[in-house]
Amino acid sequence: MITLNMGYKRLDPAYLFSNIAERVNQYEHSHPKAKIIKLGIGDVTEPLPDACIKALHKSVDEMASKKTFKGYGPEQGYPFLRDVIAEKDYQQRGANISSDEIFVSDGTKCDIANFQELFSNDIKIAVMDPVYPVYIDTNVMAGRTGVSYLGRFSSITYLECTPENNYMPDLPTSPVDLIYLCYPNNPTGQIITKKELEKWVQYAHENQALILYDAAYESFIQDPELPHSIYEIPDARRVAVEFRSFSKSAGFTGLRCAYTVVPDNCRAYGVNESSYTLRSFWNRRQTTKFNGVSYPVQCAAHAVYSDEGQSQVKSLIDYYLKNAAVIREAFLSMGYQCTGGDNSPYIWINVKTDSWTFFDSLLNKTGVVCTPGIGFGNCGKTFIRISAFNDYHAVLEAVERIKQSHDIILEDIEYQSKNKTY
Ligand code: PLP
Repeated sequence: MITLNMGYKRLDPAYLFSNIAERVNQYEHSHPKAKIIKLGIGDVTEPLPDACIKALHKSVDEMASKKTFKGYGPEQGYPFLRDVIAEKDYQQRGANISSDEIFVSDGTKCDIANFQELFSNDIKIAVMDPVYPVYIDTNVMAGRTGVSYLGRFSSITYLECTPENNYMPDLPTSPVDLIYLCYPNNPTGQIITKKELEKWVQYAHENQALILYDAAYESFIQDPELPHSIYEIPDARRVAVEFRSFSKSAGFTGLRCAYTVVPDNCRAYGVNESSYTLRSFWNRRQTTKFNGVSYPVQCAAHAVYSDEGQSQVKSLIDYYLKNAAVIREAFLSMGYQCTGGDNSPYIWINVKTDSWTFFDSLLNKTGVVCTPGIGFGNCGKTFIRISAFNDYHAVLEAVERIKQSHDIILEDIEYQSKNKTY
């Protein structure tokens, strides 16, 4: 009999973004003339940098000639890309990472989702709450998280990020083995200082734990004091794997390219605490299950590191950060407490009311779509996330609509809250 992996049945059936899409569809249906402004999903809106487009055209032409045609490439990525990543993203920032520790892939989502399969099923995992849901769901699918009750899985340690701790979680009070950290954070937009990051590296050393460090939004960091990589912390190589993506830096969400760094002295343990290099395990996993990123896409990623590419990426980041500043200022001026938006494309807003209620009132009174914080975990239940990934003029129009209708939104929330049927 063909039996199922029942881990899938434990997943929350109402996937956040399909739930949002359903409500937006209903609104569109009842307001056919309304111009909806989507500040929900974190997808980029600006086209690829010109340097990448040129590299794509050139490499596609190479594929058209017998002399320069490329078939399967190395599963770990072409040396020309791995070398430039090691040099420019790490060595030039004082982080000791070499190109053979870099694994090029088609996305951070799949890498971080796949990485957990290297570990046994009885490890204890810790995630921040609110959290990028992929970290939890992939462990649920693997059958590692126990049962779910009131939005929480019994075997997960939730590291709460609240206004009281300035969205910086405390260290776990009981030992954990695998810790997911994400900075700049999705959804809170919070950043981490070197001093704070040192605490986690030290914890990992003391507990023979491993940190999976998701730095997908690293390129938004503006403050020169902030670490761009966990490997800027001494000794982190031994206890951390880092994930980076070209999605949000160079607009590759539709092109797909990212990379994962697994230092050669990063270890995990087998029976009787015998230790193994994670790099060899990840290499084995990738060479078995992955056949590399296409040559043209790797050429486009390589072009990101040219002078032209760097200045075009900077313009993209500046563009989205300008949007973020407009959103942040608008919500602060209406009296909300916000975090993020200065070194991050996300603004996390404390709306002090049920996040779906706020979402519905905002949509129905202004046609603006946000993301309800509860979709990222229990700590998000009275927050919304607004994304700066949109056209500047659309962002200006969205905040203007919200400011104009703010009193009506608040009245509607009060009305909805009084008439709740649940
Ligand atoms: N990590 C975080 C925290 C994200 O928010 C996202 C996308 O929104 C990703 C990873 C996905 O990155 P990629 O497009 O490289 O798969």
